[in-house]
Amino acid sequence: MSPSTQTITLSNGVEMPVVGLGTWQSSPEEVIAAVKAAVKSGYRLIDTASGYHNEEAIGTAIKQLIEEEVIKRDDLFITTKAWTNQIAPGKLESALKESLQKLQLEYVNLYLAHMPAATNDDMSQQIASPVEDIWRQFDAVYKAGLTKAVGVSNWNNEQIGRALALGLTPVHNSQVELHLYFSQHDHVDFCKSHSVSVTSYATLGSPGRVNFKLPNGAKLNWAPAPSELQDANVLSIAKKNNKTPAQVLLRYVVDRGIAIIPKSVNESRIKENFDIFDFSVSPEEIKKLEESKISQRLFAQDFMIGHPEDPFVNERQ
Ligand code: NAP
Repeated sequence: MSPSTQTITLSNGVEMPVVGLGTWQSSPEEVIAAVKAAVKSGYRLIDTASGYHNEEAIGTAIKQLIEEEVIKRDDLFITTKAWTNQIAPGKLESALKESLQKLQLEYVNLYLAHMPAATNDDMSQQIASPVEDIWRQFDAVYKAGLTKAVGVSNWNNEQIGRALALGLTPVHNSQVELHLYFSQHDHVDFCKSHSVSVTSYATLGSPGRVNFKLPNGAKLNWAPAPSELQDANVLSIAKKNNKTPAQVLLRYVVDRGIAIIPKSVNESRIKENFDIFDFSVSPEEIKKLEESKISQRLFAQDFMIGHPEDPFVNERQ
């Protein structure tokens, strides 16, 4: 099997590539070049979100790649996400249609609820819509054929369990913060036992998140975090395999049966992050890597504090 066809089978039979390109904080100009470089290097999955403000540029890149006969639409796997205002009651279908228009696509491959907590448009008000109501809207857009699969992001086990208990379309994928210093074994075990595939975000420890600015230009206050790219065990496994620390961090997650979507706008890193199929991290090495016992959530999503569906409420106590 060639690297570009390595997939995880979702519970509805859809094949999701194991490696995709992340695009949070990729500007429209950067993302056009990044998507083209990625697809030409073998990537088939592109991960975006309405909240990344780059769906239009990604649509342009995809259109050009198809016109240049580099790729066919059906060979791509496009994921996008509905932000907190778009999961509010009655909003989801038009939100997805807006994303499709920007992406110039008839369907996306995976549509995710970016958060379990709904808000109004400018996020000044929390909307106490239960996750069951959010999931009913995802069931409807799936059944309408606007997306090949549906899933959630930043939902906890209990919330996913409540969505599954509805007996509607199952949750096909859970995208969560997951990296060496936030290994999420409990969540992965829960998802596996319910046939929910898992995607890791911030697999490299999201070194660029500290540069994030809100639309009003304000910076968020990120808690300091140790660099996983400099972890002593990561460095030693990298040296042994003649790979880079980033490749070891990515492979650590892939070897746990989890999909990855590393973000880069740098062509050589885009290639590096895909060149991870000629080595593996053994179960013993996974144990060794996890010896540091560091557990640090990088994305606490403080704006959900006080929301009845705040997924991290138990961690905040
Ligand atoms: P990440 O993929 O862990 O790290 C990306 C950062 O690492 C960028 O600053 C990138 O810089 C740098 N980088 C990339 N490849 C590298 C390499 N080989 N060596 C050294 N540095 C490297 O973090 P992320 O972007 O936060 O997460 C990945 C994707 O997950 C996002 O882009 C987004 O699609 C998704 N995500 C989802 C959520 C959610 O709530 N669902 C939250 C966060 C992220 P350059 O671009 O300069 O190479």
